[in-house]
Amino acid sequence: MRQVQNFIDGQFTGSASGRRFDKVAPVDGTVIASIAEAGAAEVDAAVLAARAALKGEWGRLGTDQRCDLLHGVADEITRRFDDFVAAEMADTGQPHHVMTHAFIPRGAANFKVFADVVKNVPTESFVLPTPDGAGALNYGLRRPKGVIAVIAPWNAPFLLMTWKVGPALACGNAVVVKPSEETPLTTTLLGEVMNKVGIPKGVFNVIHGFGPGSAGEFLTRHSGVDAITFTGETGTGTAIMKAAAEGIRDVSFELGGKNAGIVFADADFDKAVDGIFRSAFLNTGQVCLGTERVYVQRPIFDRFVAALKARVEGVTFGRPETRGVDYGPLISAEHKQKVLSYYKKAVDEGATLVTGGGVPEMPAELAGGHWVQPTIWTGLPETASVVREEIFGPCCHIRPFDTETEVIALANANDYGLSTTIWTTNLACAHRMAAAIEVGIVWVNSWFLRDLRTAFGGSKMSGIGREGGVHSLEFYTETSNVCIKL
Ligand code: NAD
Repeated sequence: MRQVQNFIDGQFTGSASGRRFDKVAPVDGTVIASIAEAGAAEVDAAVLAARAALKGEWGRLGTDQRCDLLHGVADEITRRFDDFVAAEMADTGQPHHVMTHAFIPRGAANFKVFADVVKNVPTESFVLPTPDGAGALNYGLRRPKGVIAVIAPWNAPFLLMTWKVGPALACGNAVVVKPSEETPLTTTLLGEVMNKVGIPKGVFNVIHGFGPGSAGEFLTRHSGVDAITFTGETGTGTAIMKAAAEGIRDVSFELGGKNAGIVFADADFDKAVDGIFRSAFLNTGQVCLGTERVYVQRPIFDRFVAALKARVEGVTFGRPETRGVDYGPLISAEHKQKVLSYYKKAVDEGATLVTGGGVPEMPAELAGGHWVQPTIWTGLPETASVVREEIFGPCCHIRPFDTETEVIALANANDYGLSTTIWTTNLACAHRMAAAIEVGIVWVNSWFLRDLRTAFGGSKMSGIGREGGVHSLEFYTETSNVCIKL
């Protein structure tokens, strides 16, 4: 069985305590790896190694040299593309094409794009008039923030981790990464890439483990950490924010969502069905930007529900590497129980079950996997738990609406504010809607179409701050203003 180690100061190491935990394959429930759990001693060693790296060769590199190295990281990921695809498929059970078209190439792109952003974004400068007429020149200087703790989730592990590590390193920081206990493989593999490319030791460190009382908590509470960037559940964000308050450390939070998809009667029908299908069911619904609340304008409501049902009933379950498979399992037995509890709640609360609602019949060799049926409901009030709470599963509730004003109110009546996808051919309506919906990311006639130079993040309970392009530089650097009297 694969033995997965921590990666500290350029070395793969176990843990002084000898503690290990099992990684289970979501597709069939078998144990596929044994993971070293970092204790306080390993977390401490990783943070110290990162601090030392900042004072060493890494800290002395010019921006160009640093960014060239990061281009090298991206190239090496691409060279080892198949290894990353295999590791991520083993960890998540998600289909091959999702890995090859999105999750792994975008992981590599995160190093290239942010290296280029750092080189090309200027700092501000102002000339200040002074009474003597000579004036003063102000300009901004960006410095790395220091040691960044990166706490990552399991749903798109490589993409979401590199989305933070790429800009953090491009800005000259050193990182200690705690991948999710559910998906340790690709982050560990990245350690091999860092060594191969010649990233100085201590710049990139990986510690494995859980949250409370384990590596996650030890890392976020460590006084040697200067800032914490976190993607995960809103409740975990609350715990991490408390830890960050000690020592006044900065945080960037990408949290949960309960995103609305809105389809107007004038939308291109087939594209809207396809878009909502992807947004609700890609990655078995385990996408923070996913759509669990769908609002469809009344004239096309029945036709839309029928078309989405047909799409959902056409998905092919199976092992990720099998050709033609486009639907995978949930990440864990625990998550499966959570999703199934919502399936039951929906029925208890009076939903009309359009399709799904249970566990699919799988062949014996996959019966131990974490499979659930993709599910659609209609007929629930907005107060129902499956309409209000993030389920993070392959399911959505569809409700009819009549007017723009009505659907804006429906979409906004939620504690989360991450993203929305709007389908219409009326440009004026699209602009009005985009301005009125209280979210960080609005997609019109698209979903999950990302330009990494743009702002990404959530409002309300979906997060704090923005990353992407220049916004990432704001988080991963400290700006000093230099004022020179002329
Ligand atoms: P999670 O919050 O359970 O775990 C995320 C990470 O935090 C894991 O590495 C975990 O070990 C760690 N952790 C847990 N408790 C901790 C603690 N007390 N201190 C420090 N670390 C701790 O989230 P998850 O279940 O892995 O991911 C799913 C969630 O992530 C969903 O809510 C989803 O919406 C959200 N998400 C948000 C975005 C976004 O961009 N907004 C993207 C992806 C996922």
